[in-house]
Amino acid sequence: MPHQLLLATRNLGKIEEFRRILEAQAPGEIELLGLDAFPETHDVVEDGKTFVENAMKKAREMALATGIPAIADDSGLCVDALGGDPGIFSARWAGKHGDDAANNQKVLEQLRDVADENRSAHFTCVAALYLPDGRSHYEEGRFDGWILRAPIGGEGFGYDPIFRPEGYSISSAQMSAAEKDAISHRGKALRAIAPHVMSALSSVR
Ligand code: IMP
Repeated sequence: MPHQLLLATRNLGKIEEFRRILEAQAPGEIELLGLDAFPETHDVVEDGKTFVENAMKKAREMALATGIPAIADDSGLCVDALGGDPGIFSARWAGKHGDDAANNQKVLEQLRDVADENRSAHFTCVAALYLPDGRSHYEEGRFDGWILRAPIGGEGFGYDPIFRPEGYSISSAQMSAAEKDAISHRGKALRAIAPHVMSALSSVR
């Protein structure tokens, strides 16, 4: 019987990406469920001060609500010239949650007078695992790059159109999903936590 694992998100893209990663590391051993399988669960209030606090809070609340080991992630863009902002406020930087175009415009406006060499930034992703017996673990992934001067590209989401990965001459919104997964903060964090998930699940108390 495969072990059940909940990925605490309603984002089907994230669920498919993590399913591919787990299948590559441990074929057939884990049945990955999304929150769509638990429509009665509450919305977690993301009031932590760090990516780790927010990711762990989501994983803990969902593991305790469902009784199933849960993984949650929290991610965002950190711009050096803005002291690490928008950081944990990435999804609602311009005010409204998830208004990607407005968020991008706000960052571009804030960096209008910042020279190219000072436009360094990185995406961070924390993947947190929480088991109903109280054990927990997290891993962090980082994706370095630079903030462009105008949006370009139609793939991806969020800040991808204004982010040029280090060593590339295109934005992350001009990469295919597979190309981005291989180097992204989320891909790195999920690949790093997968072996911890496997060993934790094989010794569920
Ligand atoms: P969440 O972790 O899904 O809540 O993402 C937080 C926010 O960070 C998103 O709404 C995006 O604005 C931004 N973000 C996180 N990861 C990425 C990425 O891979 N590309 C672009 N934006 C991202």
